[in-house]
Amino acid sequence: MTGKRKVSHLVWRGRSELTCLADVTTSIDPQQIQLPDSILPIDGRFGCGPSKVRPEQIAAIVAGGTSLMGTSHRKQPVKSLVGSVRAGLRDLFSLPDGWEIVLGNGGSTVFWDAATFGLIEQRSQHLVFGEFSSKFAEASGAAPHLGAPSIVESATGSYPDAVAEAGIDLYALTHNETSTGVAMQLRRPHGADPGAIVAVDATSAAGGLRWDPDEVDVYYFAPQKCFASDGGLWIAACSPAATERIERIAASDRWRPASLDLGIALTNSRADQTYNTPAVATLIMLDEQIGWMNEHGGLEWAAARCDESARTIYDWAESRGWASPFVADATKRSSVVATIDLDGAIRADDVCTALRENGILDTDSYRKLGRNQLRVGMFPAIDPADIAALTVCIDAVVEALAD
Ligand SMILES: *Cc1c(COP(=O)(O)O)cnc(C)c1O
Repeated sequence: MTGKRKVSHLVWRGRSELTCLADVTTSIDPQQIQLPDSILPIDGRFGCGPSKVRPEQIAAIVAGGTSLMGTSHRKQPVKSLVGSVRAGLRDLFSLPDGWEIVLGNGGSTVFWDAATFGLIEQRSQHLVFGEFSSKFAEASGAAPHLGAPSIVESATGSYPDAVAEAGIDLYALTHNETSTGVAMQLRRPHGADPGAIVAVDATSAAGGLRWDPDEVDVYYFAPQKCFASDGGLWIAACSPAATERIERIAASDRWRPASLDLGIALTNSRADQTYNTPAVATLIMLDEQIGWMNEHGGLEWAAARCDESARTIYDWAESRGWASPFVADATKRSSVVATIDLDGAIRADDVCTALRENGILDTDSYRKLGRNQLRVGMFPAIDPADIAALTVCIDAVVEALAD
């Protein structure tokens, strides 16, 4: 580490109240900033997906190293693992009777395509308020067998409400817009057509934000965010109305590719299977994380842990003259993904570079949002104490850049 600029503990401590950055220049190479070990978080992974995997999850893979890894997904050990994931999620979400956990390969993006084939009957409405919510809208808009979707948009940094509309049979909501750090209240639109269903992209929310199954029919996600596992799998908690919809479309003569057929996925899931081969390690890590959450008190415990991290980072940002939460309305701020705007005098890219040099990873903003911003994952696996340490490290980097 010779040749690096050491940030003296005393120097940055003494100036942590700094509010005026008129003198900040970028003459200091951010790659040369070295933070004292004493202020570093224990784990430096703050990405929004793939996100921090707990060591216990890796240990679980090792523990299943010969009994699960490298064994057939059609035999009982892996089927039991899938069964444990399905049962664990029913517990975690306190799902009412009749709800089912359906899963398949491909992640949330592939679930959008599957939904255009097997969940949307004629027309969907999409709430668009960021990159991810816009993508499902694009997918249904491109499907030749569906009517043009209804799009309800709001500026990034906020979210729109669903508007009941005749002829809409699926309302597409996003619980947490990972690209902007906005979390929305999930509400069934009043006055929707009878039989209309609400499908929620909960990819970055599931397991970290509270929700009410009364307001939702399909709550779908992938395991690489709050569940701290790997990507490549989609999981959907489905209400009886949703499974009825899936079965009805599956019985129709609408063409759909088998790998995107939700009817086939439902049949396989009921047998604790997937249609084609899943990544077994992903399932092991997912199951371990669900068990960890359920042992500690379930969704309420996990959500409270995220709330604590969120309080820490938003309070910190509001107390610094050179930082502010991007989401102006505090009630819309996500407690799993924080977006923090920085004063133009500080380049967020430089801050991220310096943090990365010190083992603090993936704090970069979502590129397409195009803001001078830090984005921080605060998923349940991420220790709230490490979020506090991160804020201390950002202060130190900003001080060093201002020197
Ligand atoms: C990460 C993310 C996705 C994409 O998930 P994949 O598993 O990579 O397809 C979709 N929606 C939201 C809200 C996300 O955060």
